[in-house]
Amino acid sequence: MLLIKNGTIIDPSQSLEKRIDLLIRDGRVEDIDESLEAEGAEIFDAADLIVAPGFIDLHVHLREPGYEYKETIASGARAAVAGGFTSVCCMPNTNPVNDNSSVTSFIIEQGRAAKLANVFPIGAITQGSKGEHLAEIGEMKAAGVVAISDDGRPVRDSGVMRRAMEYSRDFDLAVVDHCEDGCGVTGWAMHEGEYSALMGLNGLPGAAEDLHVARDITLAELTGARVHIAHISTARSVEMVRQAKRSGLPVTCEVTPHHFTLTDRDVYESGYDTNFKMAPPLRPQSDLEAVIEGLRDGTIDAIATDHAPHHANEKMLEFDHAPNGIIGLETAVRLTLDRLVDRGVISLMRMVELLSVNPARIFNLNRGTLKVGAVADVTIFDPNGEIKIDASKFQSKSRNTPFGGWELKGAPAATIVGGRVVWRDGKG
Ligand SMILES: [Zn+2]
Ligand SMILES: [Zn+2]
Repeated sequence: MLLIKNGTIIDPSQSLEKRIDLLIRDGRVEDIDESLEAEGAEIFDAADLIVAPGFIDLHVHLREPGYEYKETIASGARAAVAGGFTSVCCMPNTNPVNDNSSVTSFIIEQGRAAKLANVFPIGAITQGSKGEHLAEIGEMKAAGVVAISDDGRPVRDSGVMRRAMEYSRDFDLAVVDHCEDGCGVTGWAMHEGEYSALMGLNGLPGAAEDLHVARDITLAELTGARVHIAHISTARSVEMVRQAKRSGLPVTCEVTPHHFTLTDRDVYESGYDTNFKMAPPLRPQSDLEAVIEGLRDGTIDAIATDHAPHHANEKMLEFDHAPNGIIGLETAVRLTLDRLVDRGVISLMRMVELLSVNPARIFNLNRGTLKVGAVADVTIFDPNGEIKIDASKFQSKSRNTPFGGWELKGAPAATIVGGRVVWRDGKG
């Protein structure tokens, strides 16, 4: 038994924002009330802390099987709990690709063995994520995938995407799309605009994302499937999702912390630092402002990290050749608290919605609430804690972050998964 006392519980699933106690027994929420007592229970003093339903990251790359030198399921799950996440949903672009039930089962077993964050696999849309033939979607769903995606690659063929949506609708799975039309560009290194011109780098315009988002929304209307836009990054795409929602279409989207924090000007000022290179690329200030507005007005449903570990040697290549992506599990909650909550963009209630309630709803996870009887996944954080980000202390195997040395207000304090305290005060 674990009794969390003196904290402020924020749980949008029951419109609760109150100083109240939480009792956990046998991995479930046993009671939630004022001044609880429980004989023999371990007491967790959460004074000055916020207690929320466990945070869920809809978009991570854990690299196992195949690229264990970048990250393993265990090291990624450790980075997750260190960063305040109780669940992560991992993309299928491993080697082999998670396009069949045996890879799905392997990931689930490795996640269970790690005994840290819950690891929910996302299956591929197409075999080998090659964009041609559909993967074994029904089989993977039976094995435990929570969504399908070819993330890392867009599904360019509209016919393939249409059939994937028809299948996913029948299996009630969200289709997650990495929206990137070719737009006549190969080998882009950053956003196409004044800074790509200044830096002499090949750019990808925002239109590449917009074209693809428009197609997916159109197909969502045609098929009735649930479509989730991964890492949205442009003003026009946010506006299209806003309109789709107004029309009642089953379209949701997520944004990464780097897209609400950094712009293409930061790429320029970094002096070709490859930790500012990712897909989609960092966009101009006007796009960042539109994303912030989408977070404020409810258009954007979730904050997801797109945690993408790469070895230092790979990121040391010149900007053109370095791989895309940065890690995010151990900085996301802190960036959200500092950039969005502390600056008054969103409330703590809305933050918990973006990091827990909505992600659970989008992937149909049995999580995102602290109602009596719910699985006791809990994230406890300090909205005022201040610690400088030190990448050398990360639990992730990789260090590719642009946020090293940043001083942010707000930090995770403890992570409880299935009633077990798996991380507290910087230690597991
Ligand atoms: Zn992607
Ligand atoms: Zn990704």
